[in-house]
Amino acid sequence: MSEREKIYIFDTTLRDGEQSPGAAMNVEEKIQIAHQLAKLNVDVIEAGFPISSPGDFEAVKRIAEEIKGPEICGLARAVEEDIVTCWEAIKGAEKPRIHTFIGTSDIHIQGQLRKSRDEVLRMAAEAVRLARSLCPKVEFSPMDATRTDREYLIDVILAAIEAGASVINIPDTVGYALPDEFADLIAFVRERIPDHVIISVHCHDDLGMATANSLAAIKAGARQVECTINGLGERAGNAALEEIVMAIRTRHDYFDRFYTEINTKEIYNTSRLVSRCTGFEVPPNKAIVGANAFAHSSGVHQDGVLKDRRTFEIMNPQDIGIPATKFVLTPRSGRKALKHKLSELGYELTDEQLEKVYQRFLKLADKKKEVHEADLEAIMRDEFKAIPETYRLESIQVMSGSGLIPTATVTLRRGDQLIRDSATGDGPVDATYKAIDRITGLSVELTDYSIRAVTSGKDAIGEVTVRIKNGGRTFVGHGASTDIIEASAKAYVDAINKMIYMTGNA
Ligand SMILES: [Zn+2]
Repeated sequence: MSEREKIYIFDTTLRDGEQSPGAAMNVEEKIQIAHQLAKLNVDVIEAGFPISSPGDFEAVKRIAEEIKGPEICGLARAVEEDIVTCWEAIKGAEKPRIHTFIGTSDIHIQGQLRKSRDEVLRMAAEAVRLARSLCPKVEFSPMDATRTDREYLIDVILAAIEAGASVINIPDTVGYALPDEFADLIAFVRERIPDHVIISVHCHDDLGMATANSLAAIKAGARQVECTINGLGERAGNAALEEIVMAIRTRHDYFDRFYTEINTKEIYNTSRLVSRCTGFEVPPNKAIVGANAFAHSSGVHQDGVLKDRRTFEIMNPQDIGIPATKFVLTPRSGRKALKHKLSELGYELTDEQLEKVYQRFLKLADKKKEVHEADLEAIMRDEFKAIPETYRLESIQVMSGSGLIPTATVTLRRGDQLIRDSATGDGPVDATYKAIDRITGLSVELTDYSIRAVTSGKDAIGEVTVRIKNGGRTFVGHGASTDIIEASAKAYVDAINKMIYMTGNA
């Protein structure tokens, strides 16, 4: 058994993330985010680039003074003025860190700095030495490392270590590297520097490789990952913190001895806060934190998740703090709030119906103080238990499979009459609903279909909830069965019976 090794999480949302065009935040917002990052339990917060503006200086200074727990880091170019200003901003921190950098690829040395390799090496060493004379912890980055000559890269890194740097960050500044070659570079550096020096990586997502490169680097010897919430950052952004952390956690079989100390239950809250402060929406399909990251819409996937969550879900949404839908009304809730909640549940009531439900709700709320969704469903079931079963599902037969057009034959009972019809559809549920429509002759629009497992295992009971619309009103139906098609048909018929009862048209 190998010993467990911690991967340090260095969050740069407030520095690199803030450099995303249009993501500028004010001081209060930055402080709020820093508090949340501390709750998330990141190891290092890169709070800003103090020389870049008075506002940034102020934000870094206040974060350094207020935030306890993580190290507070400031960024500085490898020049005296930057380093001194950076130290002024972070010196109030419990655990301060100066991060200094200089471009080391020929493109940067000649094109941007207009210096020689020797001059750049000397500047790096002097900068680290100065930083180290002020601050006990210094991190050095050879910018554009992935396009830097390897032998020269090692010379600069060794000079920085000699001058007192204890963390060496290897940035893929332009997002150019691929996982294999980046891992190879990290292994190359690891072999040539002393063991006590921590290798960090900082990957950009220009080719969509930021997370993959960072994870490959861990296997090759990196022990700190620089990343941002929601993958925010310059251009296409940085490696996303949530992806790095959840990949290590979810694939502990692969990353066997590695772990992070991130409190994953705060991931979702942090993502929401950063999105609110920057005004950058999280794309619905974003890994881990996107709105659809845990939504299952295809029938096959719903079927799988229903039988066993693990069939199509590799993570538990609760582990990253996605809230279970919470719903509470109190005795002070008025008719309007009740009406709103009922319509969220799919019940559109007339004023008269609402008044009856409201009186019952008040009685219950006085007794219980808090009325939950399940209580409200119970009231509705009881209040409308007299809903006559205009139609009742008698039998259902579905043919589907590869190469077959899904066909459903449904038999409904109406009074003592049995009515049978068949239809084809895009899938077995669609075919079933079309067959039911042919029998009832009603025009209804299906607006929502969802399925959830009530029990788990091979004989799981699935509960289907549907919402249908007719003449501007919505009706909700439930159906439960071990067979998904049957549960779906029951839910649909249930909604139709409600519609017939409440609108009086059949
Ligand atoms: Zn960057």
